[in-house]
Amino acid sequence: MRPADAKTQPFDGEDAAGLVAAIAQAGDRQAFARLFADYAPRLKTFLSRQGFGASDCDDLILDTMLAVWRKAGQFDAKAGAVSTWIFTICRNLGIDRRRQIARRLRDDDLPPLSDVDPSPSAEGMTASRHPSPELLARFAAGLLSPSAALVVESHLALCDSCAVAHRDTLAVGGVLLERLSPAELDARLFERTLARLDEKRPALAAPTSPRRIARDLGIELPAPIADRATSGWRWMGPGMAFARLDVPEDRRISLVLLKIAAGQRIPTHGHSGEELTLVLRGAFEDEHGRVAAGDFAEEDDDTHHTPVVTGEGTCICLSSIEGRLRPHGLIARMATTLIGL
Ligand SMILES: [Zn+2]
Repeated sequence: MRPADAKTQPFDGEDAAGLVAAIAQAGDRQAFARLFADYAPRLKTFLSRQGFGASDCDDLILDTMLAVWRKAGQFDAKAGAVSTWIFTICRNLGIDRRRQIARRLRDDDLPPLSDVDPSPSAEGMTASRHPSPELLARFAAGLLSPSAALVVESHLALCDSCAVAHRDTLAVGGVLLERLSPAELDARLFERTLARLDEKRPALAAPTSPRRIARDLGIELPAPIADRATSGWRWMGPGMAFARLDVPEDRRISLVLLKIAAGQRIPTHGHSGEELTLVLRGAFEDEHGRVAAGDFAEEDDDTHHTPVVTGEGTCICLSSIEGRLRPHGLIARMATTLIGL
């Protein structure tokens, strides 16, 4: 069997949904060949632009199209277009691949992202500061570091409007995928994919039990970070404690929870990279205004800020911190030594 020629047999979104339905209902290989012919060359363009090399591109295209075959029954035309669905599968597999590259030689004790249910659990928090559209776009494209992505995911789990914006961004990704010009594919890639259609899905390795999970910290955490191993709370200075969350797939960026007492001034600091913060409890104020529970703050290397926790209670934040903090005060220098940030 050969993939159908997409150029002579164009189809629109409705056709694509019909092809997915034919795969789901009858294991229709002709339908699969047509989807492959239309999407695989565009996926190659998308993945190449994300910086994947030729062999990673081929593997990811194969895995994406295999997932289309296996999960066709789960596709819901009411939830979005086929292109969005395929874009999302490919994006998640690309993130998994980057994690694997980062964790080379380490045991993979996390479920692959492609198997994680993306639906967030909202908890009725109303945030007034949200991730920027640019950051959401980088998150949707799978281009954030694992730690930074966890802070964004945690915000989406608490913020309905951003969860909707994220789904919209994925839909834009699907539209863009359709508009990408197709790249030349290795002629054997379709045959390689076909050969694996009847394969049984490999069972996932049982996750190893974490040393200590974040929910032991005495606060309710958003689902994306609730099962992470943690250092436990550690003293950092008067009225300040931190807990490091284990993100073994990220060696460049630290993911920490900070617990700061009411009225406490967080030492003035600048950043040598991007810092994303989600407030989980309490509030702080900085030069840009008030940041309360559910709110999201983005700082980059141009920012110098002096956050002060408001008098209402202890503030707990989740932060991904790229680079080293550049502290200006004595406590901060001490904390830097203690935390090793
Ligand atoms: Zn939001």
